[in-house]
Amino acid sequence: MTAAEELLRWGVEEFGQRFAVVTSFQKEGMVLVDMAARLGAGVRVITLNTGRLPAETLRMMEMVEARYGNRVERIEPDAGEVGRMVGRFGADLFRDDVVLRKLCCQIRKVRPLDGALAGLDAYAVGLRRGQAESREGVEEKTLTGGKWKLAPLAAWTAAEVEGYTLRYDVPVHPLYAQNYTSIGCGPCTRAVDVTEGERAGRWWWESDGDKECGLHFTPEGKIVRELDVLVSEIVNA
Ligand code: SF4
Repeated sequence: MTAAEELLRWGVEEFGQRFAVVTSFQKEGMVLVDMAARLGAGVRVITLNTGRLPAETLRMMEMVEARYGNRVERIEPDAGEVGRMVGRFGADLFRDDVVLRKLCCQIRKVRPLDGALAGLDAYAVGLRRGQAESREGVEEKTLTGGKWKLAPLAAWTAAEVEGYTLRYDVPVHPLYAQNYTSIGCGPCTRAVDVTEGERAGRWWWESDGDKECGLHFTPEGKIVRELDVLVSEIVNA
């Protein structure tokens, strides 16, 4: 058993139904879904249905349920919060300003995930250190606020993910075949060419700063202050 499988098994055996794989069905997340299925313990699979996902990702949810026989738990944002945000800034606010983009990610992703995590003691995600500069410090196991976050593939290379995928015939998100190397919401993800980094297709119109949504890394500095104000206004309106 690999170190990644050992870590996943630890999460499953230690926490049972208070443990889950949280995934958007990219290759790394699918490796975890497959590994978890091989443990045979009915591991929970949670995903964020942001309301802006491409049709291919919605179909991946059904494919996973058909292949592995478990129900994918689809976590959705609060309809009132989305309505107030869209009413004030428009549906495509993410194009206008990096703070508004992060606001959209907070309302559609971060806050719903926080709600889902409240019912868990531990969860696993598909982060790899090699995916981006912002991810170089990812650790396999971190404890924050009494909750374990596992990144069993933190040290894996893209080639190792590919190798596992081929070896176990793991379902692959169809957008990879169209030169996508990182897949998120439809309007915020595009295909890349061979000269670009793995996450270059995420929020590609942003010229600087990290290409992160706030799920794994908390925004800092001036942005976080502006963001806090906006989130508070949307949530408490
Ligand atoms: S990825 Fe784009 S559409 Fe999705 S939550 Fe973030 S800003 Fe909004």
